[in-house]
Amino acid sequence: MNQSAASYITQEQRDFFNSGKTKNVSFRIQQLTILKRVINDYEEEILKAAALDMKKPSMEAYASEIGTAINEVNYAIKNLKAWTRPEKVKIPFVNTTSFGITQHFLVSSHIYSEPLGVVLIIGPWNYPFNLTINPLVGAIAAGNCSIVKPSEIAPHMSHVIAEMIKETFDAEYISVIEGGVETTQELLSEKFDHIFFTGGTYVGKIVMEAAAKNLTPVTLELGGKNPCIVDHEVHIKYAAKRIVYGKFYNAGQTCVAPDYLLVDKTIKRELLEAIKKYIKDFYGNDPYKSTDYARIINEKHFDRLYELLTEGNIIMSGDTHRDDCYIGPTIIDNSSLDHKIMKDEIFGPILPVIDYHDLNEAISIVNKYPKSLAVYLFSNNREKQERVLRETSSGGICINDTSIHIFTTTLPFGGVGDSGIGNYHGKASFDTFSHKKSVMKKSFLFDINLRYPPYKDKFKYMKKMNRFL
Ligand code: NAD
Repeated sequence: MNQSAASYITQEQRDFFNSGKTKNVSFRIQQLTILKRVINDYEEEILKAAALDMKKPSMEAYASEIGTAINEVNYAIKNLKAWTRPEKVKIPFVNTTSFGITQHFLVSSHIYSEPLGVVLIIGPWNYPFNLTINPLVGAIAAGNCSIVKPSEIAPHMSHVIAEMIKETFDAEYISVIEGGVETTQELLSEKFDHIFFTGGTYVGKIVMEAAAKNLTPVTLELGGKNPCIVDHEVHIKYAAKRIVYGKFYNAGQTCVAPDYLLVDKTIKRELLEAIKKYIKDFYGNDPYKSTDYARIINEKHFDRLYELLTEGNIIMSGDTHRDDCYIGPTIIDNSSLDHKIMKDEIFGPILPVIDYHDLNEAISIVNKYPKSLAVYLFSNNREKQERVLRETSSGGICINDTSIHIFTTTLPFGGVGDSGIGNYHGKASFDTFSHKKSVMKKSFLFDINLRYPPYKDKFKYMKKMNRFL
């Protein structure tokens, strides 16, 4: 793709947006319904692509790629009429005098949600379908035209997304552009009305810099090191089972996977035994042979992860096959903040473990790192739950489980600080792709002179009134 092709498609979409067609709410519902139908039609191709790209188990691919997308579409279709209705707001009495809105009962104020225009959605490779289609649902619901750039690192899924969208929508409305870094950079030099990016913090900064040149607003869905604190007041077996689920789902290549474990010293041994047991229960004695365990996306990421296996005490697996991009579920005990594995987001099936004496110590370790996408706490103690909520900051927090909070359509999903800007899912997706326009309407019935020159005594009078209010 060259520069003129990127310019051509954005201009075509701008012309289509200016025709006003996408502003019609029935049109949007119709397009969402078509999207839902085609996702179902493509189920087999999506599962196949997920298996070819990273041997993603069908159950995981269905739940995390197709299921979440269908949920989002259903929720948007069901609620779109309510979301698009202008929201009436009250005018505080104090405003009715000072600013001459005098005839309180003859004024109305509303917030209108209007589409932004032409938006760009850039996706990552780990959940390549869900993380491009879910934002697209929000963009359609809000009435925009969209250009989607799936990740080149998951090439089979990128082709499926391109084919599915091309077959279903006119390019002037929704278009998929495939390609690598150069293609993304060409797209980023165009003027968009919003850029929605999911990926790493490093590229997030590049995206934001490019967007700034055109004053384009951004949503950045990034990553980070998600801590998982395990207190001694827990149901150890359930805690272990839920940690194994969140950490090794998609072979650890999940932005909200627990990155490292902080465990109360008094229960460490018991917890690690339980974790080892559930790894065996889930994936068998040899996870390499399990059809329920995914692979690392490519050799570059395999090599990056492999280098993390040199420090600490590996107490589980460490088994690797480079030719198949396989790294078995791995637990590293006695990790330290100085180890390489504790420097950056792991994004793979390796769980470093650090023990702590009291919760103060655990919280202080969490707060040494930039704000993460998620914080996990396992504890039945309400006071400790409140403390972690209050004393740490993260995109979201899930108590006594891992990862599942992001599947709730009514909870906005996004990061804070280094883990991202903005959020989406459900109504939050609609809001992300909408402009909130303030609208006031007045009548011509009468007009009070208080705010108009010549001011003379009006200033005194106005000050008196403000004091009284
Ligand atoms: P990435 O940042 O490498 O790539 C994402 C996209 O950016 C791709 O489409 C790629 O083409 C493009 N890109 C890469 N380098 C670029 C450059 N120099 N200039 C312009 N564009 C460029 O991310 P990834 O490796 O695909 O995904 C892994 C990261 O994404 C992890 O950090 C993970 O935590 C994060 N992530 C976050 C979420 C979330 O919802 N917050 C979800 C999934 C993944």
